[in-house]
Amino acid sequence: TEAHVAAVEAARPLNAFITETPEKALAMAEASDKRRAAGEAGLLEGLPIGMKDLFCTEGVLTTAGSHILDGFHPTYESTVSGNLWNAGAVMLGKTNLDEFAMGSSNMTSFYGGVENPWRRAGDNRPLVPGGSSGGSASAVAARCALGATGTDTGGSIRQPAAFCGIVGMKPTYGRCSRWGVVAFASSLDQPGPMARTVQDTAIMLRAMASYDPKDSTSVDAPVPNYEAAMTGDIRGMKIGIPKEYRLDGMPDEIEALWQQGIKWLEEAGAETVEISLPHTHYALPTYYIIAPAEASSNLARYDGVRYGLREPGESLDEMYEATRGKGFGAEVKRRVLIGTYVLSAGYYDAYYNKARRVRSLIARDFAQAYESVDAILTPTAPSPAFGLGDKMDDPIAMYLNDVFTVPASLAGLPGISIPAGLSKDGLPLGLQVLGKAFDEETLFKVAGALE
Ligand code: GLN
Repeated sequence: TEAHVAAVEAARPLNAFITETPEKALAMAEASDKRRAAGEAGLLEGLPIGMKDLFCTEGVLTTAGSHILDGFHPTYESTVSGNLWNAGAVMLGKTNLDEFAMGSSNMTSFYGGVENPWRRAGDNRPLVPGGSSGGSASAVAARCALGATGTDTGGSIRQPAAFCGIVGMKPTYGRCSRWGVVAFASSLDQPGPMARTVQDTAIMLRAMASYDPKDSTSVDAPVPNYEAAMTGDIRGMKIGIPKEYRLDGMPDEIEALWQQGIKWLEEAGAETVEISLPHTHYALPTYYIIAPAEASSNLARYDGVRYGLREPGESLDEMYEATRGKGFGAEVKRRVLIGTYVLSAGYYDAYYNKARRVRSLIARDFAQAYESVDAILTPTAPSPAFGLGDKMDDPIAMYLNDVFTVPASLAGLPGISIPAGLSKDGLPLGLQVLGKAFDEETLFKVAGALE
């Protein structure tokens, strides 16, 4: 823990942490030593981790990367963070993120952008770590933490993992409790682990997951020993290669990575088959209707009365306006505007209801594919990490980065991103394995064999 606390301090220029909690870490490590001495070691005993600052942590500032949560010290602990502490993990601090987890670059945080520890070969210009769990990904890649939590609504665990050359797993919706996690889009949000190896994420997920009656969408299913599923034996498994993910204009290096992944699977004895997920093309627009709709509703609670920031006004309405005007950043405001628009009486059917129907079709595509394959292999993102500040004036270009991650999110299915190669200028690239609902074991098995 001491070494990791020092590493967090040394890596401050990355801005991966919003709040460092060194005293707490050392106290937790001491308590952990005592448990270990008493022969009571938990699954993650004494392992220092970063906690995405979207998880409420009792008595520790929780910001969601937003100005509007100024000074918010929760009086309770999220279920997932509580599970991790119960397993013996040690908190190094709260990691930076896009404001309310909205973004793919970690540039929308009120607390400033995060830097990716990687650089292009021969080029020292800083790059984004991806987002929204960019602080977690950067911290793990920079060896500040052994693991970190993320949340994935449309790719926020998998894409930053790919950009930073680490492993990130988005479990099935309902596997990890959302209780105490600041809500973005409730029908999509899902906590998950980020770490250096597939095995580490497998161990971490086992500690994070639990049935939680406090989250009505938590699923009461046994939590398997994911690590034990990693036998390395994928002989005879069938892996689908969805043809709709072969995008026009996709960079050659991404296509080459994908082909390499297919080759590795075949060499390990799996069979790969081309499959069709016909509604893939509609996933991105569908996601960017549903996610902002839910966000606009979830963010209505930040009114200057109950939490954080309050800006004075002459009347209640003026106080709301001033608080929300000042407290939310540009991307959050954009989403609230889109969300309230698509939910408004005149447009509800045309946009929100239509999107919900398309979402069912996307889920059906996957269900049909999984009748004949065990898992699916795709690239995680259409490009490696881009420059710090790039795409900030072009939200559509930013949204396009999520093209490979949002379909599984809409279908509630699990996915894992693993580092699988380097781009031509030396940046990490990720491959994504998608699986059936509550079959994370198969994902760990396949990802482990690819690693
Ligand atoms: N990049 C996507 C968005 O901006 C996904 C974010 C997430 O998964 N939290 O909404």
